[in-house]
Amino acid sequence: MSDIIQLLPDHVANQIAAGEVVQRPASVVKELLENAIDAGASSIKLIIKDAGKTLIQVIDDGKGMSVTDARLSFERHATSKIRSAEDLFSINTKGFRGEALASIAAIAHVELKTKQEQDELGTLIEIEGSTIKNQEMTVTPKGTSLSVKNLFFNIPARRNFLKSNTVELRHIIDEFHRVALAHPDITFAMFHNGSENFNLPVSNYRQRVVNIFGGKTNEKLVPVEEETEVLKISGFVGKPEFAKRTKSEQFFFVNNRFIKSAYLNHAINSAYEGLIKDGSHPSYFLNLTVDPKTIDINIHPTKTEIKFDDEHTLYAILRSSVKHSLGQFNIAPVLDFERDNNLDTPYDYKNKHASTPTVEVDRSFNPFQEDKSVSKSAGSSSTSYRKEPAGQWESLYVGLESKGTKTERNFSEVEYESQPEHTSLFTEDKQVESAQTTYQLHNKYIISTIKSGMMILDQHRAHQRILYEGFLKHLTVKEAVSQQLLFPLTLEFSSTEMELLQQLKEDLEHTGFIFSSFKDKAIEITGVPVNVPESEVSIILEQLISDVEQEVPDSNFSATDLLAKSMAKSLAIKTGQSLTPLEQEHLVNSLFACKEPSVSPTNRVTFITMSVDDFDKKFV
Ligand code: ADP
Ligand code: MG
Repeated sequence: MSDIIQLLPDHVANQIAAGEVVQRPASVVKELLENAIDAGASSIKLIIKDAGKTLIQVIDDGKGMSVTDARLSFERHATSKIRSAEDLFSINTKGFRGEALASIAAIAHVELKTKQEQDELGTLIEIEGSTIKNQEMTVTPKGTSLSVKNLFFNIPARRNFLKSNTVELRHIIDEFHRVALAHPDITFAMFHNGSENFNLPVSNYRQRVVNIFGGKTNEKLVPVEEETEVLKISGFVGKPEFAKRTKSEQFFFVNNRFIKSAYLNHAINSAYEGLIKDGSHPSYFLNLTVDPKTIDINIHPTKTEIKFDDEHTLYAILRSSVKHSLGQFNIAPVLDFERDNNLDTPYDYKNKHASTPTVEVDRSFNPFQEDKSVSKSAGSSSTSYRKEPAGQWESLYVGLESKGTKTERNFSEVEYESQPEHTSLFTEDKQVESAQTTYQLHNKYIISTIKSGMMILDQHRAHQRILYEGFLKHLTVKEAVSQQLLFPLTLEFSSTEMELLQQLKEDLEHTGFIFSSFKDKAIEITGVPVNVPESEVSIILEQLISDVEQEVPDSNFSATDLLAKSMAKSLAIKTGQSLTPLEQEHLVNSLFACKEPSVSPTNRVTFITMSVDDFDKKFV
């Protein structure tokens, strides 16, 4: 049999390599930015069109390339950064594989312009799918400009698999953040479709973080500094009360390279133990410096995961330095971000004289008894005075997802400072105590009798469904009613958040929001949808941003639907909220007026039924 093995032609090999190096426009952005940094640039400009699908251009003022180097840079395994295998253990450049430019040139239209300082003229090279189309001398400033057009033009399958512009841009911005955060000593600018998204002057690290993530970030940063023999840590962690619902503000850099490490992330989380709620994520921007010999960055092609020689020690040092910082800046002991309002002294108490605390066991207390019994015993003022604090302490253990106790309702009349106003979505008319057909169980489920037996409804999910359908209607009919705010509300956001909000602006307006200004990392709101209390606005928008960010990897992203879902989620009555019989009834009726009452907007069951037969079976 004849021999069948052949060496692949270069352009095929390059295309295959490109599959590994270039997954999406953001991968190109990363490679080009890193090359600019390796070239010693002090100013780097990133220009993007159509989320990188049409154009990605990086212009730097670095050392540039000679004619020969310019030509060679597109060859595979052509690099100026390592010379021997030994060098692999002391890498201090971003790139070293010599693969990026060859890979990119295999799958796009590339134009390189480059000039070294001492040269009169620079070099222009144009390549399409690994084929050199043009090379000439050109007038160009010192440094390098590399444009990548029509990415994946020759691999239609890859091109078709690119996600929406929102998604691809999101990935590009993520890469940009990572690089810009690691190099506050370099000026960065980013433009998308002609408008400037970021302009980051040379600054200290704190300013760089703030310039990227918005002015409101400043107050939440706590510095972390530590230097030991094996590890130097510098940077910031976020105060616990600013923990986010997404992991979008978690950054580790090792020797100025962004890395992901579940293990080190765990170290940080454990430093925050007891300080933040489950499901929230602390922000951190931490630079770790270690001896390059003690890490192996060669284990992952896109190089965001690295291996440390002594992970355990790093873990311990990191955890204790973060803990120390949180403690030193008086954050740990305060612990009041989730403070129960019941701990605050209500205004009414001011005029009451202090009484010696007494311990009293209410032997007649019966948790299953109707509310009225409690108010009855409140007849004598001294009893009620002692009873109240007892109730408050009790509710301390109830926490946010309060299951609610009978006594809790007793205090609803006392207005505490800074108590969040609860949206009452139903007309409060407590006089009308109709014959009760619904019951609330554990402030979570509404039980209602139906012909065949009984129905149990999840109040939070049911209300989400009701609100969701309402918002969807407003969004499609575009006739939402707004309520004017007495004073305009100004909210600050980072540029990334602004970018997302900008895309949702029109839809938000259709739900009833009125914006009087929408620029420079801040929006001013003069009107909100009728059923949205002013105090909830920032929460709704933050939730929305976090929902969009999380939804991003999903290709069937629909802004309208997401907005309706997100707002419904934020505004729906929560588990733990007690409802009057009238509210319960209203909830049941509104749910069954919905088009799809049986599931929540996120496809979870809203109610179940149990027939008398089911009960009969249980009672045999
Ligand atoms: P690597 O960065 O791994 O060396 P690349 O394919 O990214 O591989 O780049 C190949 C070579 O081209 C680099 O080693 C460098 O010498 C040169 N080069 C690439 N981009 C630039 C730039 N912006 N300025 C100067 N030289 C560059
Ligand atoms: Mg490179």
